[in-house]
Amino acid sequence: MSVVQRKAMLKAEGFFPHKKNVKGTTIIYSRKHATAKFVRVVVDSGIGKRSGKVVGMAGVKLCYVNRTKSWREITTEVFTDNKGLVSLIKKVEASEKFVKTCKHCKAKKFTAKTGNVVCSNACWTAWGGKKKAASPKKKSSQKIAAQKTKAARKKNLQRVPTPKSQRTYPLNKKPQKKAAKKLQKIVAEILPGDLVSVEEIELDKITNDFTGSILGIVMKADHHGKVDVNWTANTSNLPEWDMPFTDHYQGGQRRTYRFKVLSRSVEWTVAA
Ligand SMILES: [Zn+2]
Repeated sequence: MSVVQRKAMLKAEGFFPHKKNVKGTTIIYSRKHATAKFVRVVVDSGIGKRSGKVVGMAGVKLCYVNRTKSWREITTEVFTDNKGLVSLIKKVEASEKFVKTCKHCKAKKFTAKTGNVVCSNACWTAWGGKKKAASPKKKSSQKIAAQKTKAARKKNLQRVPTPKSQRTYPLNKKPQKKAAKKLQKIVAEILPGDLVSVEEIELDKITNDFTGSILGIVMKADHHGKVDVNWTANTSNLPEWDMPFTDHYQGGQRRTYRFKVLSRSVEWTVAA
């Protein structure tokens, strides 16, 4: 792949190289988003800073520049070769409208390290005590689940014996809740225009992430939850029949595949 060609494309698209790349050894380029304030289109050129050669695919994402001038990644980085670069830049730029906005300060939201989708300005930290007290309502089910596991773990560590009167027999009997959990329907909002990849799920855990090897654009999503995707790239070994095609799946399966939305923050949740 030609370095000259890639640099020329980036220049023609209005990008400028950054002096620094704190996360890697390639040259980062960026420019302002065409319409959205404080949003920048960021391209990891895949061109080595030292070697001046193409060392990998180009990665495209959107960042929100927050009040303290920190850049927050508001879309997952998607990768392409020279041929797909210009069109991918346009698609990623267009995906800005799917990124959720903080209703308090209007900043774009991003997925924090905790996995929670939060305001880029972290504006909740400036709220008064009253609002903070009300915030647990907004906790995602994921966060609550994580807290529950944490609490359960703590409990296990303490190993407080159950009083005889409260013991249930047989001792190893699993609570019936577990059986119910297996029949859970897991859903996500998948919309036309979404840039998607695929995730492999085994017993409700993500065991494989195909970002970078599978890429598609959602063409249609009907009210039955059927999703039509125009798959533009698949360099993985995942066969066509394993590709996801619905906005829902059954929890507790030994192995299944679901969509991973790259162009905005989408959570899979248990259907009510
Ligand atoms: Zn905010």
